[in-house]
Amino acid sequence: MKAPFIKALPILKKIEDAGYEAYFVGGSVRDHLLDRQIDDVDIATSATPEEIQAIFPKTIDVGIAHGTVVVLYEGDTYEVTTFRSESDYDDFRRPNEVTFIRSLEEDLQRRDFTMNAIAMDKEGKIIDPFNGQIAIQAKLIQTVGNAGERFHEDALRMMRAIRFVSQLSFSLELETYQALSEHKQWLERIAVERKTTEFEKLLRGENNQQALKILIDTGIYQYLPGFDGKEKELMKYSMFNLSSHFTISERWVFLLFHLKLVPSEVEVFLRCWKLPVKQIRRVKTGLSWLYRRLEHGWEREDLYRAGEELVISTEQLFNVLKTKVIEENIEMLKAMLEQLPIRERAELVVTGQDLLQWYQIKGGPWIEEKLLAIEKAVVKREIANDMESIKEWLFRCSQP
Ligand code: ATP
Ligand code: MG
Repeated sequence: MKAPFIKALPILKKIEDAGYEAYFVGGSVRDHLLDRQIDDVDIATSATPEEIQAIFPKTIDVGIAHGTVVVLYEGDTYEVTTFRSESDYDDFRRPNEVTFIRSLEEDLQRRDFTMNAIAMDKEGKIIDPFNGQIAIQAKLIQTVGNAGERFHEDALRMMRAIRFVSQLSFSLELETYQALSEHKQWLERIAVERKTTEFEKLLRGENNQQALKILIDTGIYQYLPGFDGKEKELMKYSMFNLSSHFTISERWVFLLFHLKLVPSEVEVFLRCWKLPVKQIRRVKTGLSWLYRRLEHGWEREDLYRAGEELVISTEQLFNVLKTKVIEENIEMLKAMLEQLPIRERAELVVTGQDLLQWYQIKGGPWIEEKLLAIEKAVVKREIANDMESIKEWLFRCSQP
């Protein structure tokens, strides 16, 4: 068992000693099976929130109505959530009502994807009633049960699916993908803040280029703030591979740059995503420096006004843009090279011998002059590289 689980083991034991069940669940178990870094260890239990509060001296009530209590233990915090089933979904949003239950399996069943519906007990034994491990092995994101129904219960799961594509470099299982394309409009009813959380995770993910492609291909982007009608712009953004050191604000700057909004639209756009005021300010400033940098190099006064952090950040984004421009230029040059009628003198159908024969005069420097002129005219597509055209052109245009 890995360190974060070992550290949390006493919590499972204490809950069990009190006569209840407790398991590690969700992202931590998935990431453990994937051998990825484990972030938060979440715990699911048959004990009710009140029963958990009675076991542990230090707890924080973060959402008792939804069954979650945060337990403080040896300097760390753990979300301990009572097994629950969710019923009465309304408007494609979170459930109106949560029913606490005593069965682990039913709790796993209400979870979004099979890879997230795996539990692990204190011995490290895996409980996986929905074959999440098979999905993990196949790198597939698959809903627990019918995809359409699960997205109907909570449409945010569609965004979550795509952000997992970005984070884990998994693919969407076919039925899940189809349900997502078919029911994307359900996202209209989802609170912006929930979309923002998932979208920012998507932007930061290693495989974000593929995830953005899915957002575009399925049309989901239309249901995200400010993206309607911006398919091409999003596509442009998705062509860049921002390395992992770029912060989320830098990613927003880069995205906004590609959206080509006029300055007055920038603030409106960022407000639509309900980003914190401080972050909006940071993104707007970053964007204006990037525009300025594209106009000219750094002047002393700019360096002074922007300060080190912004200068470096802007220059790094500028470099990403420039590299792409250089790459594009190279691609274009390669295409132009390919379209050249000839690549070297040897490819000319005409030789010095032909000229001697045609003109019937003594050889001399004129031969090289003529060949050069022919070569130039062929490359510029003024004449075709065939005997007849060249001969006709020679006798029409010039005399030896
Ligand atoms: P991350 O590594 O980003 O934290 P995670 O899988 O832990 O990924 P969380 O948002 O922390 O994601 O959710 C914890 C667990 O709760 C998930 O693994 C999943 O089992 C369940 N869950 C979260 N959101 C939903 C949802 N909208 N519908 C159903 N189950 C969900
Ligand atoms: Mg988590």
